[in-house]
Amino acid sequence: MIATSTLEISSKAYRQNIRYIRSEIGPKPIISAVVKGNAYGHGISQMVEIAEKAGIRHFSTFSSDEAWEVWNKSKKGSEIMILGMLHLEELEEIIRKGISFYVFDFERLEKAISISKQIGIPAKLHIEIETGFHRTGFDWSQRTKLADLLLKNSAGISIEGLCTHYAGAESVSNFVRVNNQIARYHEFKDFFHEKGITFKLYHTACSAAALIFPETIMDLVRIGIAGYGFWPTKETFFAKLNSLPKGNKNPLKRLITWKSSIMSLKAVKTGEFVGYGNSYMALENIRLAIVPVGYGHGYSRLLSNQGMVLIKGQYCQVVGTVTMNTIAVNVSKVRDLKIGDEVILIGKQGGKEITVASFSESTQQVNYEMLTRLPKDIPRKIIP
Ligand SMILES: *Cc1c(COP(=O)(O)O)cnc(C)c1O
Repeated sequence: MIATSTLEISSKAYRQNIRYIRSEIGPKPIISAVVKGNAYGHGISQMVEIAEKAGIRHFSTFSSDEAWEVWNKSKKGSEIMILGMLHLEELEEIIRKGISFYVFDFERLEKAISISKQIGIPAKLHIEIETGFHRTGFDWSQRTKLADLLLKNSAGISIEGLCTHYAGAESVSNFVRVNNQIARYHEFKDFFHEKGITFKLYHTACSAAALIFPETIMDLVRIGIAGYGFWPTKETFFAKLNSLPKGNKNPLKRLITWKSSIMSLKAVKTGEFVGYGNSYMALENIRLAIVPVGYGHGYSRLLSNQGMVLIKGQYCQVVGTVTMNTIAVNVSKVRDLKIGDEVILIGKQGGKEITVASFSESTQQVNYEMLTRLPKDIPRKIIP
């Protein structure tokens, strides 16, 4: 089977990104590669392979199904941490496999304690606390009950981490909110210490926090978007710009290249409309290339009349609406085209580049969303 497009994932770019992140966070903290959302669209199994080769041995997933994918692919001894959803029915298997997980309510905590006792294997728990994100996490008001439960059962469980997540560390407009969160985290930490509870790993930072709030870097950092070569926002990039090496070259490198090929070529006369409806009318005689990638493949409909692709090293504009399975691009300026010629949807060709950012800006989608919408069935190929 040959798919209508392919994604190439660069191992070299990942190594470069990890080197940069390491230079920012110092030698000690563990880097946990966040591989939720099918590794931000890059493919969990491909990313586990690439990351392990780059020396990463800690992975974070949102849910248990993703954790099993990492489990199946990763080397023995790599750690897996579930940040979000798991079904209590699966908890025993998760504990048996030594997969660690966030605990943010008493229901999950009590269940984990009882299973640990029953099977004689300590569950590896990361206690998530509410510091202001208001999604998951134990509230300040629950601290005493929480501490009592942990103390009473400390023999049967493994208290791996104390963690929280910041509400928008990627923007200075949230500066006050993030600083309040950091302060609240330390209040929790001090409270537990007074109770005699210590944690193996203290961790709070995502990419943005690790890059622009150095005080959030503790024993472990949970790095998602930056590992894939994207700045969490433009603002984070500008905030770092001054500290970058001479020449201000962007130290983060995109891993992903998205390629397809020309399915068909067609001439359209002045005054004719292209595609559904009448969103595009040819103002002169034009030539089109039809590319077999549409919104069903993750190429947003919002790129209708907006998107650009590269063919033979030249920018070509998407004309008319993006359909479920195709786009039409204006190739009037490109010579000697034939069916099967390469089309770059994201990536470089002939010294020019289509970035995910250009893409996302024109559609108001953030990098994160565009990437994770790439369907799982597009083949992902690791390139060295
Ligand atoms: C997604 C996520 C991260 C990683 O965020 P990035 O901005 O991609 O680095 C870290 N921690 C938690 C809890 C998350 O949900």
